[in-house]
Amino acid sequence: MQVPLLDLKAQYAAIKKEMLAAVNEVLETQRCIGGPKVEQLENQIAKVSDCKFAVGVSSGTDAILSVLMALDIGPGDEVITTPFTFFATAGSIARLGAKPVFVDINPETYNIDPAKIENAITENTKAVIPVHLFGQIADMDPIMEIAKKHNLYVIEDAAQAISSQYKNKKAGSFGIAGCFSFFPSKNLGGIGDGGMVVTNEKTLYEKLLILRNHGMKPKYYHHCIGGNFRLDSIQAAALLAKLPHLDEWSQARRKNAKYYNEKFQNTPVKTPYISDDCLSIFNQYCIRIPNRDKTVECLQKNDIGCAIYYPVPLHLQPCFKYLGWAKGDFQNAEKAANELMAIPIYPELTDEMKVFVADTIIDFLS
Ligand SMILES: *Cc1c(COP(=O)(O)O)cnc(C)c1O
Repeated sequence: MQVPLLDLKAQYAAIKKEMLAAVNEVLETQRCIGGPKVEQLENQIAKVSDCKFAVGVSSGTDAILSVLMALDIGPGDEVITTPFTFFATAGSIARLGAKPVFVDINPETYNIDPAKIENAITENTKAVIPVHLFGQIADMDPIMEIAKKHNLYVIEDAAQAISSQYKNKKAGSFGIAGCFSFFPSKNLGGIGDGGMVVTNEKTLYEKLLILRNHGMKPKYYHHCIGGNFRLDSIQAAALLAKLPHLDEWSQARRKNAKYYNEKFQNTPVKTPYISDDCLSIFNQYCIRIPNRDKTVECLQKNDIGCAIYYPVPLHLQPCFKYLGWAKGDFQNAEKAANELMAIPIYPELTDEMKVFVADTIIDFLS
């Protein structure tokens, strides 16, 4: 049996009619940039996130980048984040000439460890970017408290966590801004690149509206140096067609996670730890095993999709060598990079597939 890590064709088959109608509407109107579809999506994502405002942007990366730009973060500034995340989190900080300052993760949740943040704060620290990894929100209460005490912005990298909850509050609603990605493999994935910023701050919202369009308002009058960070109408239309299904998809992922959790009880497999404060959307279901690389090989041989998020923590990436970090500096992140692997968790997995994935892993390890 073949089990891919993610099967977007299965998702498309279930919603093909709505998707084609949505895309067709944009084609017929030829309103390709901005317009009502983008505005509708912004309104709905704001609602999903319990935020007042939302700004559609070209990707999750550009969501983070444009927020940092809007907050005037640049050379001389430091921004604290986790080394165990997708590159874009730290890449956006570095692209603006600011310095990414890494803080190790909690070894259970894989999210930034709030207890280690204060040590990393200097007089140049301007912001903290917690990442809600694999769909579980970081421990926001202590993070917000530290940020308040030291007057720091909190920008949530919620690329993997749209609609996820922490103490009944939604991802993106804790900090000054939340950043979502609509990359096709996220829980709410477009048919190409896309992203969104949510915020409750009107001034930030207004700044982002012009920043995403070259700082321009009205046409050809430029208030600040922005970029082309716009969200395509066709992406907005496709996402509007998918959004009504988001909750049922996240529910199905949680159900699959529960199945695996039970199957892996009393085996060497360490299942994801989800805090009682959190309702995860399981963008990934990552198990932890000592002989990870051999297990990956075994799954590949059996046509079971799996992936390593992330094989090299950011402090050890060649492009960040100039920051001066070395092996051993963030041991929890390094250990996670060596021991974690993601297995199929997507909503359309069949019962037979789940049994096959779990049994293959259990057989291999015993
Ligand atoms: C996907 C992702 C991003 C970047 O999103 P894009 O839409 O691919 O630019 C940023 N941070 C995290 C944690 C992500 O998973």
